[in-house]
Amino acid sequence: VTAREAAGGRAAPRFIGVDVGGTKVAAALVRDGQTHHRVEHPTDVANGQRLLDGIEVAVGEVIAHCGPPTGVGIGVPSQIDYASGQVIDSVNIPLAGVSLRQELGRRFRVPVYVDNDANCAALAEAFAVGARHLVMLTLGTGVGGGLVLGGSIYRGASGLGAELGHITIDADGPECPGNCPNRGCVEALCSGPALERDATELGRERPHSRLGELVREHDRVTGHQAVALARAGDPDALAVLGRLGRYLGVTIATVLNAFEPDLLVLGGGLSRAADLFLDTARREAHARALPSILARSELALACTGADAGVLGAGLLAAQEEGVAGETG
Ligand SMILES: [Zn+2]
Repeated sequence: VTAREAAGGRAAPRFIGVDVGGTKVAAALVRDGQTHHRVEHPTDVANGQRLLDGIEVAVGEVIAHCGPPTGVGIGVPSQIDYASGQVIDSVNIPLAGVSLRQELGRRFRVPVYVDNDANCAALAEAFAVGARHLVMLTLGTGVGGGLVLGGSIYRGASGLGAELGHITIDADGPECPGNCPNRGCVEALCSGPALERDATELGRERPHSRLGELVREHDRVTGHQAVALARAGDPDALAVLGRLGRYLGVTIATVLNAFEPDLLVLGGGLSRAADLFLDTARREAHARALPSILARSELALACTGADAGVLGAGLLAAQEEGVAGETG
């Protein structure tokens, strides 16, 4: 029985997508591959209960506009046991151990699906461009990975897989800033914190450079400062971003070889500075990936922007309910 049949054919099925981030909770009706009646509130990270209440409020506001949904999809920056919807690990928001699917299913009284936010974003991108095989890397505070293979999210045996951000790029590289025992993984080399670390280190080595001035004044260089300096042509800042681009290119080649996607997309906050590292990354990837695969796979920046998480979560719920959300 599909959701449409369950609804007795009276009303078109409706799906609400929710994107729970470290700073904001966004929710919207997802219809025809677009978001409608989008609401956004600051994330209450005081405790898990307050966070759940915040999600309920946001979804309630969307329901007030569009009526009760057929299902709700939720993307969270956490590791999820997909079948049970339990949060296994969560660094930035207080949901570790929470049975999110069960808790919210009880509150909304409709099927709820919970997934990692990078998986949701990958599904949104795949839907937007009509790709059946897509890999997404989200470059931000962490590096998220999302795989859409054959039109559906691939998440491993229980939902914890596809952690592309923890692929090792340099066995002796710096320690991973995430909740990961590895060193030299993508997140340790191509994330916002990696950019800050490298810009700050170079500033310490060169006290008379612009980076050095920032370290003297503020004891560190922020990612935004490094990007602004690089845009202004500062050679040290450009070198730091070039290095990040090179490591990203190594990552891209590895991922292309492993999955042969139709499309590999780059998203996340750091991708807004892609003009400073994408050419280098592309060159490095071209020099390393198998030529036969390179000829078939494309590399692009994400196109769904800030809506990716909400859109993907809604599409996930629709796909799980057998209504829509097919990609390609
Ligand atoms: Zn790692």
